[in-house]
Amino acid sequence: MTSYDEIFENNRLWVANKTAGDKAFFEKLAKEQNPDYLYIGCSDSRVPTNEILGLDAGEVFVHRNIANLVNSVDLNVMSVINYAVRHLSVKHIVVCGHYNCGGVKAAMQSADLGLLNPWLRNIRDVYRLHRQELDAIEEPNARFNRLVELNVQEQCINVIKTAAVQQSYVNKGYPVVHGWVYDLYTGNLIDLKIDFEGILHNIQEIYDLTGQGLMKKKDDQ
Ligand SMILES: [Zn+2]
Repeated sequence: MTSYDEIFENNRLWVANKTAGDKAFFEKLAKEQNPDYLYIGCSDSRVPTNEILGLDAGEVFVHRNIANLVNSVDLNVMSVINYAVRHLSVKHIVVCGHYNCGGVKAAMQSADLGLLNPWLRNIRDVYRLHRQELDAIEEPNARFNRLVELNVQEQCINVIKTAAVQQSYVNKGYPVVHGWVYDLYTGNLIDLKIDFEGILHNIQEIYDLTGQGLMKKKDDQ
């Protein structure tokens, strides 16, 4: 266990390390941020964002909450997406879940979890949407893993529903939304390869906020 004082010692070493290679490292970074990526992930301490992506300070805009949820009435995540797309002009938005997610596991139990009930209900809704597929998986851990993946997919859809993402993509061709899962057991990132353009096209039939009508899929053109 790292003690409280050790944290500050770690910080001093980190600053020394960063400035050893580039004296102006912090000076340059303090001026502005220009990240290409917005990462929306779980708060779980075992999923250290910058480390698993191999990205340095200034390279990824980060939002984390329990079970990487994107809820349209959550001002926090909606502000992050809005700012990242409209002001930072990120090129990619990643929703990253992880296997063995405590939030997803809790949502699979029939228990009153107090304040967590309304939050985790979003995951129960994902289960309801994909009930047929999930109920057909007999092995409990495989069903749990699949719900983690489907939750990522549904949160990607929630990102794509936002006006900021739709309008930016139609006008500028970015950001592209990606769904990933981090495998706690191996350290590997898995790209779920969600069909971003297909989802955008489909959801625009109901959720279009561009004022420009349906976006054509590449193969329709
Ligand atoms: Zn988690």
